[in-house]
Amino acid sequence: MRQRAARDQKRLDSGAVSSPKDLENLQREIASLAKRQGDLEDVVLEVMERRESAQERVAELTERVGSVQGKIDDATARRDAALEEIDGETASVTKERGVVSGSVPAPLLSLYEKLREQQGGIGAAKLYARTCQGCRQELAITELNEIRSAAPDTVVRCENCRRILVRTSESGL
Ligand SMILES: [Zn+2]
Repeated sequence: MRQRAARDQKRLDSGAVSSPKDLENLQREIASLAKRQGDLEDVVLEVMERRESAQERVAELTERVGSVQGKIDDATARRDAALEEIDGETASVTKERGVVSGSVPAPLLSLYEKLREQQGGIGAAKLYARTCQGCRQELAITELNEIRSAAPDTVVRCENCRRILVRTSESGL
């Protein structure tokens, strides 16, 4: 476009254009080209401004991605450490359980396993302050009396949830 305007201007300056009509046409074309050039320069300016603001946004977002990634890495490391700890604990509890279950009479162990399955994973509960810690119900006086008079090796169970009750010095008997 600039080349065309320069060429037109050259023709105009050289005096090669003879007729007034041609002259007028040429001048009009030069003016129109100048206006278009101005418009295009405005567009270029606007595009450059938009590109600059987009680059700023990219830099900002890149920084945020970096910070979020740092948090993810941190959380992942903590999760992995916790999992490792849980695995270690599971192994030690499983081993302990094996030792304990070996000393429990078979019929009691199978009753416990059956109750555990029926009662959401808890087959035996502590009797604490006259309350079954399995179902959180306070035992009735008659039930407490029965438990009180039962021999220490008698298996006592909660009347409400049927879990095996474990008696301790804190049972409130
Ligand atoms: Zn109970």
